[in-house]
Amino acid sequence: MRSYDDQNIFAKILRGQIPNQTVLETDHSLAFRDIQPQAPVHVLVIPKGPYVDFAHFSAEASEAEVIDYMRAIAEVCRLEGVEEDGFRAISNAGQNGVQEVPHLHVHILGGRPLGRMLQPASA
Ligand code: 5GP
Repeated sequence: MRSYDDQNIFAKILRGQIPNQTVLETDHSLAFRDIQPQAPVHVLVIPKGPYVDFAHFSAEASEAEVIDYMRAIAEVCRLEGVEEDGFRAISNAGQNGVQEVPHLHVHILGGRPLGRMLQPASA
């Protein structure tokens, strides 16, 4: 299990040390706009607890945190108006996933056709 670094940028956002454009706040989750949006809708949804990635979250979060987080992700999609036309939810983890910020986050992307998720792997 990867250990949590409380100096990561999302931990600082949660502590109010860095401003954010909040879309939704619940008991256990926070959703805010990505600073470098890749689509007309690009929102990051994070748990408030100190979890590095989904493996860490699923192993150690309480049921209340897990339920809150799943519902927060769905609620962001509703609030941002992407439910009907569709969206992509991505969570990058670790080195191969190219996770830059080591605090669990789901990217919600939408507002335009997003194309295929990945290029086919080269032989
Ligand atoms: P990752 O590559 O870890 O999945 O994605 C990290 C995301 O965090 C990137 O899309 C990046 O633009 C976003 N990000 C990095 N620093 C900040 C920040 O200070 N504020 C906000 N709102 N987003 C950030």
